Amino acid sequence: MKNSWLHTILNSVFLKLLLVIVITGVCINLVVGGFFMYFYMGSMKNTPLRKNAVQYLEYLIHDLGTPPDFQRAKEISQELSLEIRYDGPGEKWATSKELPPMQDMRLRKFGESPHVNIGRAQGKSFLVFTDGQNQYTFDLVKSYEQQSYAEIKILFLTIFLMCMLVCVYFVIRRILKPIKRLNEGVQQISAGNLEHQVPVSKSDELGNLADAFNAMTVRIREMLHSREQLLLNVSHELRSPLTRMKVAMEFLPETSAKKNLSEDILAMETMVSEILETERLKSEFGQLTLQPTELENIVREVIAAFEHTYPGIVFKNKTKTTALNLDRQQIKTVLNNLLDNAIKYSENTSAPIRILLEQKNPYIVLQIKDSGKGIPAQDLQHIFEPFYRVDKSRDRNTGGYGLGLSLCETIIEAHKGKIEVESTVGKGTVVNLFFPITQ
Ligand code: ADP
Repeated sequence: MKNSWLHTILNSVFLKLLLVIVITGVCINLVVGGFFMYFYMGSMKNTPLRKNAVQYLEYLIHDLGTPPDFQRAKEISQELSLEIRYDGPGEKWATSKELPPMQDMRLRKFGESPHVNIGRAQGKSFLVFTDGQNQYTFDLVKSYEQQSYAEIKILFLTIFLMCMLVCVYFVIRRILKPIKRLNEGVQQISAGNLEHQVPVSKSDELGNLADAFNAMTVRIREMLHSREQLLLNVSHELRSPLTRMKVAMEFLPETSAKKNLSEDILAMETMVSEILETERLKSEFGQLTLQPTELENIVREVIAAFEHTYPGIVFKNKTKTTALNLDRQQIKTVLNNLLDNAIKYSENTSAPIRILLEQKNPYIVLQIKDSGKGIPAQDLQHIFEPFYRVDKSRDRNTGGYGLGLSLCETIIEAHKGKIEVESTVGKGTVVNLFFPITQ
């Protein structure tokens, strides 16, 4: 992607922070440097320091004598750590070859003296004293090594500044770490892990936020629990009246009204037992009765119950053995629900339902594939939620309560397996059950 780095920066608070720190560092350098150059250096222009410097040069020239003495210049150079170049009518000399000739220099006024200028050449500054035809060039920073040291010092200063900025970045990153943890917490909660607690290490504003977040998840957990408890209690309380109604029904004459009522009572009974079974398996006491079982045998038994229903079932086993530790009754419930759905949501003229058993390590996979009406993509992520139905209007033919798949998922997860559904509207649905081989 062309602007992917920009995208990465804009999507990361920490990178944005780093960018802000770097830009701030550069701006501070520019502002301080600029301020120093324009105000401080500018104000230096006519200070007594400059007058003293001019006076100092005059003393030096006086000391050199007339005509200037090269020998004396070398002594002064040694004693005072400076370099001198002289360009006169009769002679020219310099205490160092590094001093550039006049024609190579750009001259600028130095204070109010008519004789003294600042000359710039080769990236360095010199003081140039002109007295008629005599020209003296002074390099007051004597050794060029010292100048290169100055460059190294600037380099060190820059590195030091960069290190400081990096340290500041890490400190800020540390301070903002709770935000990262909160982000992880939000992801965990939205993935359904309501047990997740964000670690609280500080008592600052972010610590308070993490505390509030944890309190919120506890509250949500409690609300969900009380909702489940209510559902469970109502379902429990419904069982006795349902049984009484069934007994009372037996004494009614056989009419179509009785038939309809019986079907409704049966549907309610199924719903109540599905709710109770799901909750029982979810609770810590809801144990499975596991025993070594051939999955293939269970599949065949369930298929037998659907023998004469349309659009028909084709079964294929591609594995050598399907021996697993299973709760036989619960797995039968799962297969019954899935086959019931596959038939309910297919047409009589649809292609037959295909059941396939195969090994895909570390799982044995049971696939149920129908060519029915399929499930719209926006509903697919909700179908395992209790009471979720794609078609909200119930009729007698497809009339479930949206509890079947929720129960199937609970049972398969209790077996440490997983259930996955893929579907295309108009083409059909594929349900894959994954049973771990080593349970
Ligand atoms: P229900 O008892 O309503 O069928 P389920 O929990 O078994 O409840 O399924 C939830 C919803 O998923 C159903 O209402 C149905 O719309 C959809 N569904 C499940 N299986 C299939 C399938 N094989 N083909 C099409 N839709 C399906």
